[in-house]
Amino acid sequence: MIDVRRECRVLIIGAGAAGLTCASRLISQGEKDILIYAKSYGASPEIAGINFLTEDTEAERKLYFDDMMRVGYYVNDASLVENMVNNSHATLNFLLDLGVGFTKEENGEFKKRHLSGHSTPRTLCNTEEFIGVTIMREEKQYIKEKGVELNTGFECIHIKEDSEGRYAYFKKKNQIIEVKADFIVLAWGGIGELLGESTYPKDVYGNTLGIGSELGLEFVDLEFLEYEPMVMLYPEKTKGEPCPTAMLGEGGYLVNKSGHRFLLDELETEAGAPKSIINRLIQREIDRGNGSEFNGIWADLRHIDTKVLKGYPWFYDKLMANGVDPNKELLNVGPMKHSLSGGIRVDKNYKARNGIYAIGEAAGGVHGACRCAGNGGAQSVVSGFIAANAILDDILVDEAASGISDDFEYKVDLETYKRIKKSLIDIGDEKYGYVKELGGMEEALKYLNGLLETEELNKDTKSIQAVKSAIMVLEAALARDESIGTYVVK
Ligand SMILES: Cc1cc2nc3c(=O)[nH]c(=O)nc-3n(C[C@H](O)[C@H](O)[C@H](O)COP(=O)(O)OP(=O)(O)OC[C@H]3O[C@@H](n4cnc5c(N)ncnc54)[C@H](O)[C@@H]3O)c2cc1C
Repeated sequence: MIDVRRECRVLIIGAGAAGLTCASRLISQGEKDILIYAKSYGASPEIAGINFLTEDTEAERKLYFDDMMRVGYYVNDASLVENMVNNSHATLNFLLDLGVGFTKEENGEFKKRHLSGHSTPRTLCNTEEFIGVTIMREEKQYIKEKGVELNTGFECIHIKEDSEGRYAYFKKKNQIIEVKADFIVLAWGGIGELLGESTYPKDVYGNTLGIGSELGLEFVDLEFLEYEPMVMLYPEKTKGEPCPTAMLGEGGYLVNKSGHRFLLDELETEAGAPKSIINRLIQREIDRGNGSEFNGIWADLRHIDTKVLKGYPWFYDKLMANGVDPNKELLNVGPMKHSLSGGIRVDKNYKARNGIYAIGEAAGGVHGACRCAGNGGAQSVVSGFIAANAILDDILVDEAASGISDDFEYKVDLETYKRIKKSLIDIGDEKYGYVKELGGMEEALKYLNGLLETEELNKDTKSIQAVKSAIMVLEAALARDESIGTYVVK
């Protein structure tokens, strides 16, 4: 029944922003034994705005954390939220290094939009196209350049784990492929089509929750279905197209059939209002008989500068192509199912259990009962980045664990390893090179010999070996008195 059998270190299932970011990060750190299998590209190409901390200060981190918890009604997993906030800036830098072009203002600062749920503008974008498309183009290009396979058109149908290893099965037409992997990263998105009428693309069906439960994974927050509040309901050809909540940050507003800005009955301002509250207030207007014949209300963008509207080309162009001019008429909008905040239960590094990670929309817990707009995309890339780093750590531990014999205890302590590695690199940078600086070397040698006596070092065999190596190099350097080759004794 199985037509092809393959093996790899890391198998990534899903090629949305989460899967591609995870793959790119692994590759950038030297891990290339990766296979990516996916049906298609998921919801990520539709990411219009994505949140990042452009300034990584304590104050900015706290504000972002507080916004996420408040909007999530404090049922979010705070450790996931904190780790997302703490890795936001690093992930942004990683994407910039890959060449992702976010739109900037004339003064060189990032263009930031004010989306639903945020107390301040922190959403980056590309005013020429969906930023999801921009990000994925650079990531796909990078993955291809580095020679890692990205296979689309394959549907994951089953995953199993036994004493021999972890296996995922894919179907493409009549062919069944088995992939055995040390690590499996579930980046298969949300439950899309299962939602019924929704904003979701067709390649994210949602049976993946079932596949996960067959594997014995746990789930969290599956009850938190997200509604996008301002989705086009009419004309038919525009139906399902979200009117960005950023429009409320651009000065747009929602009105009922009397033209009343009903959000202001409960809120001080429309900009930044959480989706859950907008949805409820829209429903209240509909229940009061103040809604439209399409079971919605109206968005008024008529007063917004056309240039600003054109900065959302996917939206503006679609409306204009279907005979709707947002500068001239009210838009028929209303809430539509959009996503699921819940998913596979993971720890703060997106590990579901040993060898299995779940990232992006596949993972639950970070958004709580409602998602800040722009955080679906943000969580997908940041979780891909975090999980890749955690997998790299796991690989180190796995490698260290192999080849242990009875008379040799190989100890592994990742924290010690990281700390010692950093301190050895610092010593390497500062204290020895081809110019022999006697004082610095002696000082470093004393420090390293002292380290050998510490209990901390004794926790990690690789660190003991590395310190010994550094000592050997320093001793050899100190023993040589004359300049020779490129070696200069001062
Ligand atoms: C219309 C729309 C607009 C949105 N706008 C924004 C926005 O402006 N800002 C924002 O932050 N978020 C937005 N979101 C949410 C955002 O798109 C998602 O949260 C994010 O893209 C999820 O990324 P992901 O990589 O986890 O999943 P996805 O991008 O959905 O990718 C899932 C991947 O898994 C694959 N897959 C699924 N099932 C299987 C299977 N059985 N076998 C193999 N492969 C499988 C898919 O083909 C795909 O490759 C929007 C969503 C929609 C639907």
